[in-house]
Amino acid sequence: MSAPTGAQRTALVLGNWKMNGDAASAEALLAGLVAGCHGLSGVAGVCPPYPYLGLAASRLAGTGVGWGAQDVSAFEDGAYTGEVSARMLADLGCTWTLVGHSERRTLFGDTDAEVARKAARALAAGLVPVVCVGETLAEREAGSTEAVLARQIDAVCPVLRDAGERCVLAYEPVWAIGTGLTASPAQAQAAHAFIRARLAAGGVAAAPRLSLLYGGSVKPSNAVELFGQPDVDGGLIGGASLVAADFLSICRAAAGRS
Ligand code: PEP
Repeated sequence: MSAPTGAQRTALVLGNWKMNGDAASAEALLAGLVAGCHGLSGVAGVCPPYPYLGLAASRLAGTGVGWGAQDVSAFEDGAYTGEVSARMLADLGCTWTLVGHSERRTLFGDTDAEVARKAARALAAGLVPVVCVGETLAEREAGSTEAVLARQIDAVCPVLRDAGERCVLAYEPVWAIGTGLTASPAQAQAAHAFIRARLAAGGVAAAPRLSLLYGGSVKPSNAVELFGQPDVDGGLIGGASLVAADFLSICRAAAGRS
């Protein structure tokens, strides 16, 4: 049997709202998504801040747009003030949780080992971990992009081996996040192909079938070309996910990729 092509893998676009907005803006954004999400069932999801996950659940239930969290605790349960467990996220109907977003890694010190523990907690609670990896500008300029990706992926492979297709990887070059700079389609494709091969080499048998998302200043104007790459199955969207029309347009680009 030949390897799955991009069009045969699940297209997925997740919006990472980060720590933006308030209840009123979350309500308005969700209303915009609900109004415009026709035909996007299973393709689109949002990751609001924790306090608005319940709101997302109530507004998005039955629409085909899913929801997830931006992070999860590496601990199961107990005296961990300020943490949110994977089981709590599952209770809120989350499908996904991000783990290892570069802002968690750089601002909050999440290590590769901790990212792997978070992914394991997510899986154990029935959530799909979206494992974020990516190099800084200094690492790219030093020619160590693949070494960085390899280190980040190797740390999580033992956890993902038994997950089957219940995991997602997101390639997010740190230099492209929130900067307006975007990896070229060729750069994104090269990194995605490397990630897929590294996962397979690490014993993740489902690697050819996993959805690999690109993140880093994706906009309606560049989404079609990025998602047209054979190993780019969708996107993880920051800034543009805060504008319903832009986010929906990016989702449509993923849904229509060939
Ligand atoms: C992100 O933070 O995951 C992201 C990709 O942000 P932006 O789209 O704003 O670059």
